[in-house]
Amino acid sequence: MSSMDIPFTRTRTPLSRPDDTSLSFGKVLTDHMFVMEYDEGQGWHDPRVVPYAPMQMDPATSVLHYGQAVFDGLKAFRQADGSIKIFRAERHARRLNKSCRALCIPEMDEELIRRSFEAIVAADHEWVPRALGTSLYIRPTVVATEVMLGVHPAHRYTYFVICSPVGSYYKEGVKPVRILATDTHVRAVQGGLGEAKTAANYAASLSAQQEAERAGYTQVLWLDGVERKWIDEVGTMNIMMKIGDEVITPPLAGTILDGVTRASTLQLMRDWGLKVSERKVSIDEVMAAGRDGTLEEMWGTGTAAVVSPVGELAYKGETITIGGGKTGPLTQKLYDAIVAIQYGKSNDPHGWMTEVKVPAEA
Ligand SMILES: *Cc1c(COP(=O)(O)O)cnc(C)c1O
Repeated sequence: MSSMDIPFTRTRTPLSRPDDTSLSFGKVLTDHMFVMEYDEGQGWHDPRVVPYAPMQMDPATSVLHYGQAVFDGLKAFRQADGSIKIFRAERHARRLNKSCRALCIPEMDEELIRRSFEAIVAADHEWVPRALGTSLYIRPTVVATEVMLGVHPAHRYTYFVICSPVGSYYKEGVKPVRILATDTHVRAVQGGLGEAKTAANYAASLSAQQEAERAGYTQVLWLDGVERKWIDEVGTMNIMMKIGDEVITPPLAGTILDGVTRASTLQLMRDWGLKVSERKVSIDEVMAAGRDGTLEEMWGTGTAAVVSPVGELAYKGETITIGGGKTGPLTQKLYDAIVAIQYGKSNDPHGWMTEVKVPAEA
């Protein structure tokens, strides 16, 4: 079955599309959305692409009260020949189901999730921008839509996929940020929801993020919730660092989101023969390496920015500057390599890109 077998109701009031140069992140939404529902006894049903529209919700809808909600985020890229390709759709589909499992949401057929991405991008293919660095951000989301105030897994859910054309994260080149390690707030704990892409984790991050911003930093560096010692993630990105000749990233051991950009950059660095360790790394080890000059580079990884270099790290009143506050050579190399694959400027040795068949206009 192709995405064209999914019923498509075309909008009668298409919006005017913004200019490629005026795009920011997530402010403009496209003309259509993918929707399907789950009902107990019936399973997931009625996949379709329909005009983008507000959804009516009863005030007692369970997601509004207890946050049974998961999402994912991936991108489609315009290739030089005009075709459109999605980056690692399969891995994002698998992760969405993993998040569903963590929140007691019934899983979907992974093939159908992939087809939902393709169907919405095909419907809104004109919205995939053309300027280098721009892309179409795809946001699949599942929410509990049962109307009830009891606390239990819902019997009804809605899955929807919306899209937003987004501008280049780095309009003036990759730019390092200043981050603050917090020992007063935690994002996730073992046995909690850290491995799931769920609304609750974002709600839990806001006050620490606000404090960091008020103190003049861009992001929070999260430490583990038990010893407040081991580095977990940075903001809503995975964290990596290069100390001497070793690239280190914390292991996927229960509190960390299994980032697709994390996996992709690890793969590339292993391809390049670098020494890569997925191991616990403490804030003390990093601060010490910062002091003695062996902390060469540090960066976050995520779909929105690809990589985000860290130029300055503050912890307990001490500040270390990393790589002279500039983007390091490995960070830049990773950014360039991922972007080249995404826009089809280099070959795709691991088969990460899948083409979206755009229907011929009627
Ligand atoms: C989405 C997310 C990431 C990055 O994942 P990507 O698949 O690379 O976009 C990292 N950490 C958290 C907490 C996230 O929600």
